[in-house]
Amino acid sequence: MAEPLQAVKGMNDILPPDSARWEWLEDKVRALMRRYAYANIRTPIVEPTALFVRGLGQVTDIVEKEMYSFTDAMNGDQLSLRPENTAGVVRAAIEHAMLYDGGKRLFYIGPMFRHERPQRGRYRQFYQVGVEALGFAGPDVDAEVILMARALWRDLGLGEVRLELNSLGQASERAAHRTALVSYFEANASQLDGDAQRRLHSNPLRILDSKNPAMQPLVNAAPQLMAYLGEASLKHIDAVKAVLDAVGQPYTLNPRLVRGMDYYCHTVFEWVSPLLGAQGTICGGGRYDGLVEMMGGKPAPGVGWGMGLERVLDLLTQVGSAPPAASPDAYAVLPDAASLAPALATVEALRSAGVAVQVHAGGKDGMGSMKSQFRKADASGARFALVFGAAELAQGMVALKPLRGPGGEQSLRPLEAAGNWAGELRNA
Ligand code: ATP
Ligand code: MG
Repeated sequence: MAEPLQAVKGMNDILPPDSARWEWLEDKVRALMRRYAYANIRTPIVEPTALFVRGLGQVTDIVEKEMYSFTDAMNGDQLSLRPENTAGVVRAAIEHAMLYDGGKRLFYIGPMFRHERPQRGRYRQFYQVGVEALGFAGPDVDAEVILMARALWRDLGLGEVRLELNSLGQASERAAHRTALVSYFEANASQLDGDAQRRLHSNPLRILDSKNPAMQPLVNAAPQLMAYLGEASLKHIDAVKAVLDAVGQPYTLNPRLVRGMDYYCHTVFEWVSPLLGAQGTICGGGRYDGLVEMMGGKPAPGVGWGMGLERVLDLLTQVGSAPPAASPDAYAVLPDAASLAPALATVEALRSAGVAVQVHAGGKDGMGSMKSQFRKADASGARFALVFGAAELAQGMVALKPLRGPGGEQSLRPLEAAGNWAGELRNA
């Protein structure tokens, strides 16, 4: 026998019944997007490597060490599997002049790829839902996207998810802060770890994000960007806070919240759960007003977030909020193979009336005993068995037998016009 092959490390198969939880979650997400009038956008998984180098910045973790990049063997193009999707959405918006008639509210769902060390909540292929509101400059839309995430936690019954908030101000303010930060870290160079030394001149803001416990006192006492914000920036973040206060959404101001990508400005935020260990951030985002122009488009503001679906599902498990099992409504029991043709006519009519029916599948030696068929009907989770016995068929009937709850006796239904009694089987 041939040696079986295995999936790439950090890239997971999502199998039934677990995949039903994924579909349930994605349904909730799509319903949410409809309520907020965000339209779906689907961009390619493979993009030119240059898109991410330009869009994320050369010195970000993602571009430095997490991208799956390769040369197209056919034509030598430099390509990458998308590590995130803001850059792709912005590229598409520019390429198709999507903003010519005003702002666009967009969302996506799909796989992202990052070469990280696989662990709980951190995979090499993972799924993100993201929203991008392009062309809107006001703090009202910052608040809108933040509250969309809150609405999802509520729809999912996720319990407490904490909101952390910060403002990165605008470029000139960040530059002044950066100068102060570099001087501060230079003055304390002996306390910097290797990572921090490397970042000191390339991306000093990222030092604030350090997870190294030894670095914490130094980082905590570092100059804070908030102190460098001008009037307009303060007004922007205050307006966001005012909406959050008005709707009773608590938040923690976290001056160390900087986000990994260079393109963020003004509002940045993360939704964090205490129940997920080190990978507690289930959603992160912010405003990126310079990105569209940086990518070669006519200047336009943007704000959005990305959410990790694996982490959201993990959290659903932690809080015990279990989505309903995806069982069929009915299981068709076929005592002998000869009943298959008339049974299927009725089953197809039920299915077109919206009933989920699993039909017993026979083997080379026929359909199997009634006992084993009922065992399978039970295991399927169906609420009803439809028994297409020869006696019933001869009367133009099928027997309907409740399998769950108080049960009850089986009773007959006509094979014809199954649409008339389909409502009894459909899951409300
Ligand atoms: P982290 O600090 O956890 O590495 P990040 O800042 O790299 O997160 P973003 O790029 O903002 O994350 O992505 C948005 C969300 O996608 C994260 O909040 C998280 O929920 C999820 N996410 C990011 N990387 C991974 C991964 N490797 N595996 C699973 N989910 C991920
Ligand atoms: Mg990361």
